[in-house]
Amino acid sequence: MQKRLIITFFMLLLITGAGVLAAVFLPKDDEKAETGKKDAIEASAKPADKKKDSTQVDQHEETKKEQPQEENSSDMRTAVLSEAELLAAGYDYDAAIETLKSFQGYEDDSEMTARVADYETKKASCVPVNINEVTHVFYHSLVVDPELCFANQETDRQAVGNNQWMTTIDEFNKITQEMYDRGYVLVDLHDLVEETTDDSGNVHFKEGTIMLPPDKKAFVLSIDDLSYYHSYDGYGYASKMVVDENGKPKCEYIQRDGTTVVGDFDVIPLMDKFLEEHPDAAYKGAKGTIALTGYNGILGYRTDISYQTVPADIDEDKRKWLEAHPDFDLETERAQAKAVADAIKADGWKFASHTWGHMKVGDASMERIQADTEKWKENVEPLVGPTDTIIFAHGQDLAEWTTGYTADNAKFNYLKEQGFNYYCNVDSKQYSVQLEDNYFRQGRRNLDGYRIYFNSIGEMDSVGDLFNASDVIDPKRPPVQHL
Ligand SMILES: [Zn+2]
Repeated sequence: MQKRLIITFFMLLLITGAGVLAAVFLPKDDEKAETGKKDAIEASAKPADKKKDSTQVDQHEETKKEQPQEENSSDMRTAVLSEAELLAAGYDYDAAIETLKSFQGYEDDSEMTARVADYETKKASCVPVNINEVTHVFYHSLVVDPELCFANQETDRQAVGNNQWMTTIDEFNKITQEMYDRGYVLVDLHDLVEETTDDSGNVHFKEGTIMLPPDKKAFVLSIDDLSYYHSYDGYGYASKMVVDENGKPKCEYIQRDGTTVVGDFDVIPLMDKFLEEHPDAAYKGAKGTIALTGYNGILGYRTDISYQTVPADIDEDKRKWLEAHPDFDLETERAQAKAVADAIKADGWKFASHTWGHMKVGDASMERIQADTEKWKENVEPLVGPTDTIIFAHGQDLAEWTTGYTADNAKFNYLKEQGFNYYCNVDSKQYSVQLEDNYFRQGRRNLDGYRIYFNSIGEMDSVGDLFNASDVIDPKRPPVQHL
């Protein structure tokens, strides 16, 4: 809300700037037309405004200087109306109404009062979402070039894995559209709970309140492993996240001919674009959660300390990459990654730990979990900021759903001490939600090649509530091998 207001404020500043420029550069003929427009505005303006304006006229003889002021009021009204419309589209009716009511003279503006009444009606028709039935879907980095990514299924094990675990851009776009058409609305993981902190600083959870129109359904989105691992090189994935000239997160992609382009080549910019075109596809501006490991760096930047210390047992991928990048500088990589992470956060996305080493937390010893968490805190957290969310890798977890995280669960107690309150795993069920006083846990569904393919040929039935797999499957995807 505050962010939106700030954006509105800057929009108004821009408009003011444009108004001033227009006043300065307006040719004489247009001045008349502008004066006509001005009169129309003045006729509808409040008496108080008129008085203020006439004082200004007394002070400044030239009407030219008065024009920007008049332009502002009209442009400001337009900006307020469209800001309110955007807020209401995202189901934030209270903020939309507040925005309209903050406009001086809204009571006498029939369009504004009609809109307030409309938003009140829409708000009254909303119903609370059942938090226990909210689904959570996730993707890995999207495949930009399926032919490259899935080639040689018979001989290349990595291509087999790509086909099983990865989703193509085409499939992502179709799924996103179909879920939208079915009434799915993106909510933030944190919207599902209401968090309170007691005097001792302990966090307590209870069910959150999400109000949506009765024909809408909530879903949570996350992205795993947004690191652009060395193993992705040459397989038709984006190479890194970058910030474009508008400060928006985009992807860098190296094409087959070796040339580099910047564009919408992964979930973040594609989802951003979809939400810009469909502001009613997200609840109060929600975006997804990005789960990061650290061992190959983050977001396509080689930010891990091991690239600088080069331990004797450094893996082959890193050694080769360092050989190919003799001017590597850790601080430069980290600064670039941080700038991109900042832009991603400013864009509304959130970061989570995926463990530094993509570890199997169920199998791992307590000591290994501690050492891994320390590495995440040293190499990743300074770049993306602290997070309260951990998304486990390999579908592992700290305890069964039926048991929950009990007071004697040492791994949970340790991670909880490290600040993690939201825990996610992988679960093929439509929804798996566990809300306790001291943590929130949710299962996530992988919308990947494996699931899309086996649903499309009728061997699985696990995505039908979200989309029709045979409609979305990429024609460039070869048959997927069984696990
Ligand atoms: Zn992973």
